[in-house]
Amino acid sequence: MGSALGFRTLCDNPLHHNIQWERLHMTAQLIDGKALARSMEAKLAERIRALPRKPVLAVLLVGEDPASRVYVRNKVLACERTGIESRSVHLPETATEEDVIRQVRAWNEDPTVDGILVQLPLPRGIDAQRVIETVALEKDVDGFHVGSAGALVTGREGFRPCTPSGVMEMLESIGYELRGKHALVIGRSNIVGKPMAMMLLEKDATVTVAHSRTPNTKELALAADVIVAAAGRADLVTADMVKPGAVVIDVGMNRRPDGRLCGDVADDVRDAAGWLTPVPGGVGPMTIAMLLVNTVRSAEMRLLAQ
Ligand code: NAD
Repeated sequence: MGSALGFRTLCDNPLHHNIQWERLHMTAQLIDGKALARSMEAKLAERIRALPRKPVLAVLLVGEDPASRVYVRNKVLACERTGIESRSVHLPETATEEDVIRQVRAWNEDPTVDGILVQLPLPRGIDAQRVIETVALEKDVDGFHVGSAGALVTGREGFRPCTPSGVMEMLESIGYELRGKHALVIGRSNIVGKPMAMMLLEKDATVTVAHSRTPNTKELALAADVIVAAAGRADLVTADMVKPGAVVIDVGMNRRPDGRLCGDVADDVRDAAGWLTPVPGGVGPMTIAMLLVNTVRSAEMRLLAQ
C-alpha cells in the first residue's frame, strides 16, 4: 500500500517502545461501502435470476424504536432492489415474548421462507437471546444463533454475522493481506466485536480485542495495522492513536448533539490512516449487502440442493 510510505521512523531503537513518527501529511483513501454494496447487489440479482423462485426474507419488527424502523425500511428497500421478496411483520410494543416466538416458529415451518431477521433491540421484558435461539439455524441469516456463532469459532460452514462479514469484504476489496498483520478490534459485543475478531483470526491476522475495561487502547491502536472501531463512542479513535498508513474501519453509528450521524473515528484520522471507511456510506450499506448475500445463499441451499 502506497500510503504506508507516508511516514518515516525517527526512532528505531528497539528499546524504545513508543516509536515516534514524523507525520507527513497524508489523506486516507476512502473505502466506498455504498458502491461496493451496490456492486454486490448486482451480482446477487444475477444469482437470483437462476433460482426457480425469489428468495424470501421474513423481517420482524417489535415496538416503535425509530432507529429500528429506519433499519428495517433500508433492509426492505435493499431486498426490493435486488429481487428478494421481503415479508415484514410489525408487532406492537405490548407484544409478549410468546407472541414473538410464535411468529418466528411460524416462519421456521414455512418452506417458502429462506431467512428470518428479528430486528434488535426488542422491547424490555423480551429475552432477545431466547428469541434468537428460536430461529431455525438454516434460516439464521443474521448469524446470531448460538449454533452459527459456534460454527464461526470452529471454522465450519454457517451464516456469519453481517457487519463483520461486510468489513471482511471491504478489506478484500482493497486487496488487503491480513496474514501476519496486527488487527485491533475495539468492542466485544456478540454481534460485532467477537465475530469480527474471529474472522480476522481466520485470515491469519494477530488479533487484539479492546473493550470498555481496557486501560491501554491507545497503545494497542498505535501498534495495529488494522483498527476496527465498534464501540459506539463518537471520536473514540483519534489521529494520535493511528499508526500512519493503517487501515481504519469505522463500524460505529452515533448521533452528535446536532443530530448528525457519525462513527467512532474522529475526522482527523483522515490525515493519519492509509485507508478509512466513511460514516455514513461505509460499513452500514455493507451490513445490509451481507444480509442479502446470506438470504440468497440460504435460498440456493434450499432450492438448488435437490
Ligand atoms: P455494544 O454496545 O453491544 O458494544 C459496544 C462494545 O464497545 C462493548 O463491548 C464495550 O466494552 C466497548 N466499548 C465501549 N466503550 C469503549 C471504550 N471507551 N473503549 C473501548 N471499548 C469500548 O454495541 P454493538 O452492537 O457492538 O455496536 C457497536 C457500534 O457499532 C454502535 O455504534 C452500533 O450502532 C454500531 N453498529 C453499526 C452497524 C452497521 O451496520 N454500521 C451494525 C452494528 C452495530
